Amino acid sequence: MQQRLVFINLLLPLALLGLPVFVVDMTFVLPKYLVSVLLLVVLGRAYLLLQQQTLFAVVSLLLLTLSFEGLVQLDIQAPFASTCLLLFLWFVNLQWGQRSWWHPVHLLNVAFLCLFVGLALRLVPIPNILSIYSDLPLKWLVIFCVISPLLLSSMWTRLGRWAAYWPLFMVLLFQFEWAKQEYLVLWTACACLISLTLDTYVLAFVDELTGIMGRRALMFKLKTADKHYSLVMVDVDHFKKFNDTHGHQMGDDVLKVVASILGKTDKARAYRYGGEEFVLLFKKGDAGDITPFIEATREAIANYKLHIKSKNREKNKRGQSRKRKSINVTASFGLARHVSGETLEEVIERADKALYTAKSSGRNCLVVAK
Ligand code: GH3
Ligand code: MG
Ligand code: MG
Repeated sequence: MQQRLVFINLLLPLALLGLPVFVVDMTFVLPKYLVSVLLLVVLGRAYLLLQQQTLFAVVSLLLLTLSFEGLVQLDIQAPFASTCLLLFLWFVNLQWGQRSWWHPVHLLNVAFLCLFVGLALRLVPIPNILSIYSDLPLKWLVIFCVISPLLLSSMWTRLGRWAAYWPLFMVLLFQFEWAKQEYLVLWTACACLISLTLDTYVLAFVDELTGIMGRRALMFKLKTADKHYSLVMVDVDHFKKFNDTHGHQMGDDVLKVVASILGKTDKARAYRYGGEEFVLLFKKGDAGDITPFIEATREAIANYKLHIKSKNREKNKRGQSRKRKSINVTASFGLARHVSGETLEEVIERADKALYTAKSSGRNCLVVAK
C-alpha cells in the first residue's frame, strides 16, 4: 500500500512537470494571485497535518509568488540569495520529527528564512571580499543538495517528506531553466498539494502500526461493497498474556507480523479492526471456496517463529543460555457470508459470534457462521 502511494506521489508531480515539454504553447495562464491562494491552502493543510517541514519550505515559495505579483520586491538573483534559499530548503529537508515551535532547529529555520529574505531584498550588506564569490556556478551544489535527502531511506515512506521536498527540487529546475519561474512555482504548489492529499489519505485509512488498511477503510469498503462478500473476524489468541509476559513492544511486533501474513491471504484484503483484531474481506466466493485460503493463513500465523530477546540480561552476562528463544502465536477466525437484506452490522455481529465460538472451542481454528 505504502509503496503504491509513494509511486503515485512521485509519478503525478513528475508527469505535471513534463507538461512544458509536451505542450509547446502553454497559453493557459493562471492568475498569479490564484497561485498564492493555492500556496495558502498548502500552508493550511500542512499546518493541520502538523507538517512543520512543509510549512517552512512553502513559506519561501509564497514569498516568491508575492514577489512575482510585485507585492514584495524579492530579487532571487541578488548575491547569495538563491544559495541561501537552496541551503535553507536543504536544511529543512534534512530534519525529521515534530518539535515544539521554539525548538533550536526551528529557530535556525526562521533565521535562515530571514537571511534569505534579507539577501533577496538586498538589505544584508555583503563585504566586498565576499562579493567575488557571489556568482560562482551553483549547479553542483544544487545537485548535491537535491540528491542528498533522497539517500535517506526514510524519505521514501515518511509522511510529509515529499511535500517538503518539491520546493527543494524546484531550485534545481530554476537553475536549469526547465520552465518559466512562474510555472515552476505553480507546479511546486500543485506537487505539494498532491503529496499532502496523499498524506491525508494515509492518515485517514492506513493503520499506523501495521501499515495495512484500518477500520475506517473497512467501513467505507463495506458500505460500498457488492452483495455476497464474506467477512472474517480474526483475533490473536491470549494476546494480553503475551503482552504481560514479553512487553508491549514485542506485542507490537507480533501485530505487525500477523498483519503482514494476513495481508498475503489469497483473494482477500486485510484490515486492522482495532487492538489485536483484524478483518479479512473476500469480495466473492462461498465459504467452501475461501476456507482453504483462510486455513492457509491461520497455519502460516501458527507456524511463524517469533524470536524473543531475552529480558534477563544478567543471566546472559554470566554466559548462560545466550540462545534466543522462539515462540509461536495463534489466532482464531470467525467467518460470515453476507446474505441479501442483511446490514453490515449484522454481518459483523455474526462473524463476531463465530469468532467467539472459535475461542471457546480451543482457539487457533476457523468457525463458519450459520
Ligand atoms: P483471547 O484469546 O480471548 O482473545 O484473549 P486476549 O488476551 O487476546 O484478549 P483481550 O481482549 O483480553 O486482550 C487484548 C489485548 O490486546 C489487550 C491489550 O493490551 C492488547 N492490545 C490492544 N491493542 C494493542 C496494541 O496496539 N499493541 C499492543 N502491544 N497490545 C495491544
Ligand atoms: Mg480481542
Ligand atoms: Mg485476543
